[in-house]
Amino acid sequence: MAVGFSSVDDELFREIILDHYRNPRHKGGLDPADVTLEANNPLCGDEILLSLRLRQGAVEGIAFSGRGCSISQASASMMCDSVAGKPTDEASATVQRFRDMMLAEGGVDGLGDLEALQGVKRYPVRVKCALLPWNALLQGLADGSAGENRP
Ligand code: ZN
Repeated sequence: MAVGFSSVDDELFREIILDHYRNPRHKGGLDPADVTLEANNPLCGDEILLSLRLRQGAVEGIAFSGRGCSISQASASMMCDSVAGKPTDEASATVQRFRDMMLAEGGVDGLGDLEALQGVKRYPVRVKCALLPWNALLQGLADGSAGENRP
């Protein structure tokens, strides 16, 4: 299998992931939260609790708590960073692009720090760790949008 990363990229990617793991962004809860979602990856023991607040078609607030491996926790931190304050349709598009990046062959450009998680693709078991928070967000955006449209 071809690997499109140099060791320099690897080193940079590892640093970005470790930085998010050690200094997670948006860690905690939201009060109030519109949607709270729990996601588990029993294969690795990862747990994510994602809180979302959606207002006027945008992700006004997002936070996560949880525990697990560095990949799952760093991925959650990076995800929150990348969608906080964004319109929900833009957030959904980012989820889709990230999932495509992790599940498809080849690389993706334009995802900023999120590209650091591409290296995980070499370890198929860990791809589930990286996607765990994103699957929760996808569900949360769907649930939250439905709630916002209620009279
Ligand atoms: Zn994991």
